[in-house]
Amino acid sequence: MAQQETDDQTINDGFVVDTEDCEARELAHRERGTARPITVVGNPVLHKECKDVTEFDAELAQLIDDMFASQKAAEGVGLAANQIGVDRKVFVYDCPDDEGVRHTGVVINPVLQEIPAELRVLDESNEGCLSVPTAYAELARPDYAEVHGQDAQGNPIKVRGTGYFARCLQHETDHLYGYLYIDRLSKRDRKDALRQMEEGTPRYETVPNA
Ligand code: ZN
Repeated sequence: MAQQETDDQTINDGFVVDTEDCEARELAHRERGTARPITVVGNPVLHKECKDVTEFDAELAQLIDDMFASQKAAEGVGLAANQIGVDRKVFVYDCPDDEGVRHTGVVINPVLQEIPAELRVLDESNEGCLSVPTAYAELARPDYAEVHGQDAQGNPIKVRGTGYFARCLQHETDHLYGYLYIDRLSKRDRKDALRQMEEGTPRYETVPNA
C-alpha cells in the first residue's frame, strides 16, 4: 500500500492517490479511533489559526483516527482538528467530487494554492459545517482547488479536487486558519445561518460553549 502510493505519487506529479481503497482505509482509521464531540461557532479554538504540526508521531496517528471516527459519527465529509478541540493543522476528508468519485485522506499543515484568475470558475452551491449545526447557505467558491501539505508521516503531498470536493478542501483549510464558511457570507446570510442553527438540533454530540 505505502509502496504503491509512492509509485503513484511519482506518476501523478506529487498528487496523492486518494481514490483507492477508500472504504477499507476509512474503516481502519475509525475502528482505531474514538468519536469526540464537535466544537461549535463561538468556541475560541475555531476562531484562530491552529499550530503547525512538527511531530509526526503516534499521538498524531491517534488524532487522525479519532478525527475519522468523529467525522463518521457526525456524518461529515470533512473535519478539521479544531472541530474536536485540537489546536493543530490537520484535516481529514471523505468526500465525493463532481463526478461522484470518492476521495478519502488526511492533510497535515495544508496550504491552499492560488488558482490563476483565468482558470477560476465559481460554483455557487450550498455549504454547511458540523460546527454550525443544521445551517446551510449558498457560497460561491472556485470549482477546483489544490492543497499542498504533508501526510501522516511528514512526506510532502498535494491534493486536488473538483466540485464538492474542491469546496471541502477550501472549507477545511479555512478552518485551520480560524475561518468558518459563515465568515465568508454577507452579514445578512451569516445572521440567517446563525438563526438556522439556533432553531435546529444537531444529530451529534457538540461541545457546549462557555
Ligand atoms: Zn466546517
